Amino acid sequence: MKKNILVIPGDGIGQEVTKWGKAALEKIAELYSHQFSFDEAIMGHVAIEATGDPLPDETLNKAKNSDAILFGAIGHAKYDNDPSAKVRPEQGLLKIRKELGLYANIRPILLFDELLEASSLKPAILKGTDILFFRELTGDVYFGEKTKADDGSYASDLMNYHRYEVERIAVKAFEAARMRSKRLCSVDKANVLETSRLWRDVVQEVSKRYPDVETEHMFIDNAAMQLVKNPRKFDVVLTANLFGDILTDEASQIAGSMGMLASASIGDGTGFFEPIHGSAHDIAGKNIANPLASILSAALMLEISFGLKEEAKVITNAVADTLKTGYRTTDITNTSTAQDYILGTADMGAKVL
Ligand code: ATP
Ligand code: MG
Repeated sequence: MKKNILVIPGDGIGQEVTKWGKAALEKIAELYSHQFSFDEAIMGHVAIEATGDPLPDETLNKAKNSDAILFGAIGHAKYDNDPSAKVRPEQGLLKIRKELGLYANIRPILLFDELLEASSLKPAILKGTDILFFRELTGDVYFGEKTKADDGSYASDLMNYHRYEVERIAVKAFEAARMRSKRLCSVDKANVLETSRLWRDVVQEVSKRYPDVETEHMFIDNAAMQLVKNPRKFDVVLTANLFGDILTDEASQIAGSMGMLASASIGDGTGFFEPIHGSAHDIAGKNIANPLASILSAALMLEISFGLKEEAKVITNAVADTLKTGYRTTDITNTSTAQDYILGTADMGAKVL
């Protein structure tokens, strides 16, 4: 298989971890005789420093012309202390999502047995958890009309959804459910919200096209509770932008560390694959960031954008084996981890390879 992959390491630990996601893709190309070619581009703070623009045209053009994008992270502490800065790294991310038409954010909550102890929840509740979230990215209260009274006494955010926005992500989620254990849970607040009633309507309609998938509808409040009470209950979870934002962060705690979770943003064009963590400047440049989220992002790319399920599994298995052998980065160690098995970014990446 021949593919052009664009690598955008971005800022902070993005620079350190993304090279290991890329290395995993190169290894797969070598093992399976695929022809992957790589190009690199800048985005975020590094791009602002170099060009004044968080998403230079050159990066955007390369992105549009590639088959998939492996992204690191963007951000810099200097903007946190300067909320009024006009040019900001995040603008690059919002723009590239819009330009590439990315409407579905996919986040697998994959729990490795070896890390049961690293999670915030009880191992007995967690063992075997494997959830795939589909969070809508383009609609909802984030993008509706916003108002604020001049005297500060009132504010509003309009929550809105169009039928087509719900339908296109529902189709993606049902397709995924069909390839997994054929269970899909759609999360909404249809007892209170009109947008949720539309959501549920459309999901029910789409579900008729997938009679082999068992569909359940759950209210967001109940889902938030069930997620920590009985996470194994979920397989594919389909939800709107706001609910998905909150639920996926809640669910990330199941996996033990931000350094373990990958995500994909997909739409009709080029897919975008990245760790869920950010630029983490507190640990940048110290060779301690966990590279596994980037490596697992590479696996997601192979599966979702290229349909290479076996190759993706090879990467996931290599991560599992490395953890089984006992190797840990500092974010996933516990008191019983032997000192010799605590590795830096580069050594951990090399072990997985
Ligand atoms: P951003 O502003 O770009 O989101 P951040 O400084 O908020 O970056 P995050 O990446 O969101 O940082 O992560 C929060 C904290 O979790 C970090 O400060 C870091 O200590 C830890 N962390 C995040 N990713 C990793 C990783 N890959 N390996 C180890 N620790 C991590
Ligand atoms: Mg953050």
